[in-house]
Amino acid sequence: MVGYKGKRVNTLRLWTAAALDPIRLDRFNAGDHVGALVEEARADALVRVLYPADSTAAGQELRLRQEFFFTSASIQDIVRRHAQYNGDVRTLPDKAAIQLNDTHPAVAVAEIMRLLLDEHGLEFNEAWDVTKRTVGYTNHTLLPEALESWPLPLFERLLPRHMQIVYAINSRVLREARKAGLDDGAISAISLIDEGGERRVRMANLAFSGAHSVNGVAALHTELMKSTVFSDLHKLYPDRINNKTNGVTPRRWLQQCNPGLVSVLKDAIGDGFLDDAEKLVELNALADDKLLGERIAEVKRSNKVALAAHIKAITGVRLDPDALFDVHIKRIHEYKRQLLNLIETVALYDEIRSHPERDWVPRVKIFGGKAASSYHNAKLIIKLANDIARRVNSDPAVGGLLKVVFVPNYNVTLAERLIPAADLSEQISTAGMEASGTGNMKFALNGALTIGTLDGANIEIKDRVGDDNIVIFGLTAEEVLAKRAQGYNPREVIEGSRELQQAVSAIATGVFSPDDPNRYAGLMGGIYDSDWFMVAADFDSYAAAQRAVDRRWEDPAGWRAAAIRNIANVGWFSSDRTIAEYAREIWGV
Ligand SMILES: *Cc1c(COP(=O)(O)O)cnc(C)c1O
Repeated sequence: MVGYKGKRVNTLRLWTAAALDPIRLDRFNAGDHVGALVEEARADALVRVLYPADSTAAGQELRLRQEFFFTSASIQDIVRRHAQYNGDVRTLPDKAAIQLNDTHPAVAVAEIMRLLLDEHGLEFNEAWDVTKRTVGYTNHTLLPEALESWPLPLFERLLPRHMQIVYAINSRVLREARKAGLDDGAISAISLIDEGGERRVRMANLAFSGAHSVNGVAALHTELMKSTVFSDLHKLYPDRINNKTNGVTPRRWLQQCNPGLVSVLKDAIGDGFLDDAEKLVELNALADDKLLGERIAEVKRSNKVALAAHIKAITGVRLDPDALFDVHIKRIHEYKRQLLNLIETVALYDEIRSHPERDWVPRVKIFGGKAASSYHNAKLIIKLANDIARRVNSDPAVGGLLKVVFVPNYNVTLAERLIPAADLSEQISTAGMEASGTGNMKFALNGALTIGTLDGANIEIKDRVGDDNIVIFGLTAEEVLAKRAQGYNPREVIEGSRELQQAVSAIATGVFSPDDPNRYAGLMGGIYDSDWFMVAADFDSYAAAQRAVDRRWEDPAGWRAAAIRNIANVGWFSSDRTIAEYAREIWGV
């Protein structure tokens, strides 16, 4: 891979699987023409789909096989090359750094140990020291359902030698925990084996124990790692957890996706920001420059015209480029709260119909995102977005004031069209649940204002752009935890908010799904009965924040100055800064 301006070349190694014997001629000649190819088909299945759905036993086994296959291939390659060129595997940490991107490659810890013990003849203590000094682990989520663990019988059947090594590592770690005086509760939380119910191998605990560095991806996330999921491991290894706030590449998320903006910025501050995104701070001096504000607004408008043409072509919906483009694009997940936005959209629709005489700000609500194949509620949320869009867009009573679009097949290419055309960036996850977010950074870099919760990197974006240039609402992470502990009653909250109550009951009773009136009864029932994601708790605060956005939009000069302050102050969220921190503080290069 040739780097920026051709100054560096790095190797990206990709693997594929093939059968040892791609066609079994004996079977073929015996008339079994399909059976002759079955080994090749099996090899292909291993690498065809990344992260196969693990909702079935067969999917689960395929996923573990795939994780081991890719991980083992890379680890064998790294260790073999090191031994070949350096002679001694004990110097591996001086020459190699292996960063585990989430727990998917966590079996690497056991695989490195296997090679050092079985192929290179190291003693356990020495192998463990070499492994730990080589490996770092990045955690990307605190959601317990996303922390991988494998049923012990499956792990043992597929990887019997690794199972022995995991047991040996576990006895060492638990010995250290007892020596440190930790209690039984802490010891069972630290164990690499989950003994509650069906025994499982905990990959996050394996990654944590086998790494010299364990990092979170935003300041809040890193603090929550210490106080929640990894609190006991953190007590045992207090120097291991550190923070590396995520970043995005300005080559793709500014230079490639928004050439019009780049050209205006070059005229304003020169081209130093192309090599060093933090130089965008020079724009702060020009935040109130009327001409610059107008030129940036012209670029934004032409990006919106281009997006409107694209959306017309793919969905048939016609958008007014002078309306406020409000964009909510990311994987569909209940914690990312597309439902909060959809319910507020319905409430806004009701209010416009009831009070058409008010001076509403024309809005376009754009949604996009994919659902995991086995995530039922996420798919229902996509259906709801489409159902709301159909009804709202065909209602002459709201006319040009509100349009709703769900763009299909959200991916990076589509994001590169949507983000430069956004006025408002929706970053409204339940506080404490979004590890960092990176969409938030891309939007701010392209001059959108954020409406968001105090979650993930939103907090650090707010610290940099300033409280006046971002719209914050809702419960804090601490308040969410306290509310859950106290026993939160969403029904009471819904019944106390007229707008919320009307919107939820309209959706629940089939106003948007006359073809299947009960389609959303269960989804809305979930909010009434438990509302784990605090949609009801945050609704009034979110709706008020949206009306505050409307008032800001009515002051174009103020909006433009805030957009400039966003662009100026988010250069720090460049992946160049993030990677430099990993290099210096974790990899020692
Ligand atoms: C940046 C990006 C994401 C991550 O978005 P979040 O809002 O941080 O969840 C997901 N998908 C695509 C295509 C992206 O470009």
